[in-house]
Amino acid sequence: MKLGILKEREEETRVSIVPAVVQRFIKELSFEVYFESGVGQKAGFSDGDYMKAGAALMGRDEILELLDIITIINPFDTPFQPNSPKTVISILNPLFRTGELGKMTHSNLTLFSLDMVPRSTKAQAMDVLSSVASISGYKAVIKAAELYGSVFPMFTTAAGTIRPAKVLIIGAGVAGLQAIATARRLGAIVHVFDVRSSAKEEVQSLGANFIEVEGAAENLNAGGYAIEQSQEFLEKQRALIDKYVSESAIVITTANIPGKRAPLLIEKSSVEKMKHGSVIIDLAAEQGGNCALTVDQQTVTHHGVRIVGDSYLSRELAETTSQLLATNYFNFLKHYVQLDTISRTDDPILTASMLIQDGELVNERILSILN
Ligand code: NAD
Repeated sequence: MKLGILKEREEETRVSIVPAVVQRFIKELSFEVYFESGVGQKAGFSDGDYMKAGAALMGRDEILELLDIITIINPFDTPFQPNSPKTVISILNPLFRTGELGKMTHSNLTLFSLDMVPRSTKAQAMDVLSSVASISGYKAVIKAAELYGSVFPMFTTAAGTIRPAKVLIIGAGVAGLQAIATARRLGAIVHVFDVRSSAKEEVQSLGANFIEVEGAAENLNAGGYAIEQSQEFLEKQRALIDKYVSESAIVITTANIPGKRAPLLIEKSSVEKMKHGSVIIDLAAEQGGNCALTVDQQTVTHHGVRIVGDSYLSRELAETTSQLLATNYFNFLKHYVQLDTISRTDDPILTASMLIQDGELVNERILSILN
């Protein structure tokens, strides 16, 4: 197999395959690996690093024309017009970008999006959502600590004692748990909301306080995910969240329901009760945000409170995120090449993550949104 690593669009700092993983493709899977010049530059990897790992430099047009498998995080700007069959492995958030998928329906093109891989034990090593969420949860706390005008831990000095910061975290999935652990390591007092009862024990084991709201709906067949809550429940939850928001210096929100708009959990009036200088980091910004004032990819200041709507925080830790993503790509492609053509058609990991096959939109979840 011949694999090509393409350069990303301007604002993307991460890269799909890092040099250490190039070596694994060559040694473990006998791939030939090619890369576009400058592909890993923003993530801290030079062309020389890729060459040392055994990859060869190739022009963009040649990669697009000659190779079987192409890896790129966001392929929407890439002019694919394949003459020969080509498989592109990406990370697209396709459930929220169905309208753009038409750009990719060229005959001969097969497109996978790794954020559609099922959250099964078998697919855990390919789970790009967990990789990105872990880094984002960590970075959200670090960013909040930078923006906040005081300290996180208790400070006992000759000039007096400073009380520890109160941090509120909404949603205790992968990103939320990492945010809790990071805020606790920095010495903050942490309160947490989630609607899945299984989150309680995990939150408490990290030394944080779990706030329960009675009456949350759960579905144990939802693959570990939360399901949509009733308006009545959300109103009750928002009222309790209001109390904790007004007492917190830092709020980090991560609440999501797969394929749906993120639940609106913090109202404008709650933000107005926070102290000036407080910070909200909304990691659900791309899905519409958990705070009424969030604007995706922007920082808004309201009543002296900064609301950071940055859904791409992992781009600020491009090297580490790329290392994790590259391993996810490798594990996915290892699984792919180990299956024969017939087994590929009913493999649950491939069918869930394949969006387009030979130019035709085939993904059931996407089709059900479009129809
Ligand atoms: P997610 O990004 O979909 O949601 C983040 C969190 O928001 C979840 O914990 C969810 O319960 C919570 N949430 C939703 N609505 C809420 C509301 N109204 N109020 C408060 N919180 C709300 O979730 P995720 O981080 O991707 O993980 C979800 C689950 O999947 C977790 O149980 C995690 O352990 C599991 N998981 C399994 C695997 C695997 O087996 N391969 C991999 C990753 C995650």
